[in-house]
Amino acid sequence: MTDCLFCKIAEGLIPSAKVYEDELVLAFNDIAPQAPVHILLIPKAHIESAQTLSEENDALLSRLFKVARTLAKEKGLAETGYRLITNIGNDGGQSVPHLHLHLIGGRQLKWDN
Ligand code: AMP
Repeated sequence: MTDCLFCKIAEGLIPSAKVYEDELVLAFNDIAPQAPVHILLIPKAHIESAQTLSEENDALLSRLFKVARTLAKEKGLAETGYRLITNIGNDGGQSVPHLHLHLIGGRQLKWDN
C-alpha cells in the first residue's frame, strides 16, 4: 500500500472533486485553487515527476495533454488562454511527488502567479 496522496486519490481512498476520469488519467479540482479554474491532472499509475518519465509513458503523456485540451475547452478557456504547469522537485515547488499537471485559468496570469 503506497503512502502517496495522489495514488490514494486515484484509488478513491481519499475523496476528490473529480472532473474527468479514464483508464489512465484522473482530473480533479485543486483543493487550494489559484484561479477560477484550477484542475490537477494525474496519471493513475505512480510516476514521481516529469523528470522520471520515459518513452514508455508516451501514450500517457499524449493522453494527459489531450484531457487538458478537452477540459480547457469545456471550461471556456480554449479561446482566452490558460496555463499548464508541472512542478519538479524541491526547487521546482513540487509538494506532492506524483506527476501532475496544473490546469489554471479564468483570469490573467502573471509569471510569478
Ligand atoms: P505541487 O505543489 O505542484 O506539487 O501541487 C500540489 C497541489 O496539490 C497543490 O496545488 C495543492 O493545493 C494540491 N492538493 C494537495 N492536497 C490535495 C487534495 N487532497 N485534493 C486536491 N488538491 C490537493
